[in-house]
Amino acid sequence: MTVYNFAAGPATLPNEVITQIQDELPSLQGSGMSILEISHRSSMFDDIINAVQADLRDLMKIPDDYEVLFFQGGGTGQFAAVPMNLATDHHRIALLDSGHWAAKAGEEAKQLGYKVDTLATTKATHYDRLPALTMTMPDDTYDYLHICTNNTIEGTAYHELPKTNHVPLVADMSSNIMAQKYDVADFDLIFAGVQKNLGPAGVTIVIVKKSLIKEVDGIPSVFNYQLFAKKNSMPNTPPVFNIYATGLTLKWLKKVGGIDEMQARNQKKASLLYDFLDQSTLFNNPVKHQDRSLTNIPFMTGDAKLDLAVVDDLAAHGLMNLKGHRSVGGLRASLYNAMPFEGVQALVNELYRFEKEM
Ligand code: PMP
Repeated sequence: MTVYNFAAGPATLPNEVITQIQDELPSLQGSGMSILEISHRSSMFDDIINAVQADLRDLMKIPDDYEVLFFQGGGTGQFAAVPMNLATDHHRIALLDSGHWAAKAGEEAKQLGYKVDTLATTKATHYDRLPALTMTMPDDTYDYLHICTNNTIEGTAYHELPKTNHVPLVADMSSNIMAQKYDVADFDLIFAGVQKNLGPAGVTIVIVKKSLIKEVDGIPSVFNYQLFAKKNSMPNTPPVFNIYATGLTLKWLKKVGGIDEMQARNQKKASLLYDFLDQSTLFNNPVKHQDRSLTNIPFMTGDAKLDLAVVDDLAAHGLMNLKGHRSVGGLRASLYNAMPFEGVQALVNELYRFEKEM
């Protein structure tokens, strides 16, 4: 039985990448040493981390006036690091509350002592759409506006960005980085954990405008952008294996056609599932059409027990990890870059069969 893993992250990786890791694991580049053993101060690792940076720049067309940094600590780490590094003038940030992870970023900044103003929220409608920024942002009040480009739990995504009136735009792109096309120049800072679209958990990418990086006193070294920029992301030991594996995934992405191809594939996969859900009399996706995510699709029957029965039935057919997030319930299919079209086809076939047999 072919197994397809629909987990929200860590998530499915390309088979080619897993096989390459397996092949290279005992001896990296004929060195007799494993990637699990080599020093981050070796020239072999220098080449690896530099290639990851170069491939990221190439794939995302990152302009030269942006720095590309690698951190540990996940998206959650950046919920703290971004205000510590950027909110130095006003100590006040603006937020569009589009769901669980946007709200979490606000809570973390608040508990570190920053003022957080939620300019719009769609909490009242269970985040079934994106919050609209209707006001003109004042240009002398906020250090930045935080958005979450793809709401992993609720299944919404920005297809058009809010107008910030020159206030820096910070985006948590954890669940649709390189799965959906954005222009890096439209953002002042992008961060994303790699564990959904780009690799195994353990690396967080930060792409930040060089002009925003400054000396900040009194913040932890492991979250200090200026220090990481100066030390090629290695003031201390980086997650060596995870950076290496992310590098392999980026090579795979380049080989199959880059972000344009990924977006086209992801659109095709998402449409297949949305089209099924929209005509189904059993399953429903609650998200407003114009805000629907390409990578995370929640759906439900309206009966929590039946939802669980569907999850079990799918698992018995090799369609794994389709249980929805506990805050939303129901089911959720995560269709990241490495999920093949055949996986979504198999899912739709099973859902169709389940509905027919009801
Ligand atoms: N932001 C988004 C959009 C997420 O989906 C997640 C995790 N699922 C996070 C932040 C938190 O990331 P981490 O677990 O890497 O801290």
